[in-house]
Amino acid sequence: KSMLRINQVSKVYDQKIVALSEVSLDIREGEFMSFVGPSGCGKSTIFKIIAGLSEPTSGSIEMVTSTQTETSINRDEVGFVFQHATLLPWKPVIDNVALPLELKGVSKKERYEKAIDVLEMVGLKGYEKALPRQLSGGMQMRVSIARSLIAKPKLLLMDEPFGALDEMTRQNLHYELLRIWRKTNMTVLFITHNVFESVFLSTQIAVMSARPGRITNVYDVPPYERND
Ligand code: ADP
Ligand code: ADP
Repeated sequence: KSMLRINQVSKVYDQKIVALSEVSLDIREGEFMSFVGPSGCGKSTIFKIIAGLSEPTSGSIEMVTSTQTETSINRDEVGFVFQHATLLPWKPVIDNVALPLELKGVSKKERYEKAIDVLEMVGLKGYEKALPRQLSGGMQMRVSIARSLIAKPKLLLMDEPFGALDEMTRQNLHYELLRIWRKTNMTVLFITHNVFESVFLSTQIAVMSARPGRITNVYDVPPYERND
């Protein structure tokens, strides 16, 4: 069942830089899709458009929910994880994780309960009161993932989340992410420069090319190539 449709989306910056040229893509519910391609092929731009952080110059995005097809993305249903954990350094872990709910005015009791649940999911139970600087890079990324999960998004966008981590940490997080993906039934879209990472994690790989940014191929990754 289709969950996100990208229809002929183009993005032109400053009336001259064609970051995306008529990109169309149909993403099914529960898919783990990686986007690979050279720097500047429009991977981040497509994510920003999906997340509603940027408007396409032409074309449209549709999100299909169980009840209707929405032509604008409901931000509450989308989680975002960036390459850098982007945590607030003065706030303890639990408040960083609960931040999306705090901004929505959810009570402290409820948001702390939910924060503890997602911290447990990412293997950080017991670190509620720690400050970000007391944690390793991999643990900070776990906090960032927990924060992206707290509002139970249907769609999770990850823009090179593990690019800055060492190999061991990255591999641990691969298994952790796959476990969470299976458990939650989320659709995950994942940007990476690393083809091995994309094959290991994904059910589908969208290959992009630059100038102008296009999707040139979408591959299904056969199960025997994947981790499971
Ligand atoms: P990628 O994530 O694949 O590296 P981007 O989506 O960041 O690609 O960028 C695609 C192209 O659009 C690049 O040529 C980039 O320099 C340009 N670009 C991205 N964002 C902007 C912006 N805000 N203003 C102008 N040009 C931009
Ligand atoms: P990426 O990791 O996606 O390759 P970049 O380093 O290309 O990121 O860009 C970082 C940010 O700067 C992006 O959010 C992009 O939108 C913006 N950006 C990229 N190129 C330009 C540009 N030529 N002018 C203005 N903003 C840009």
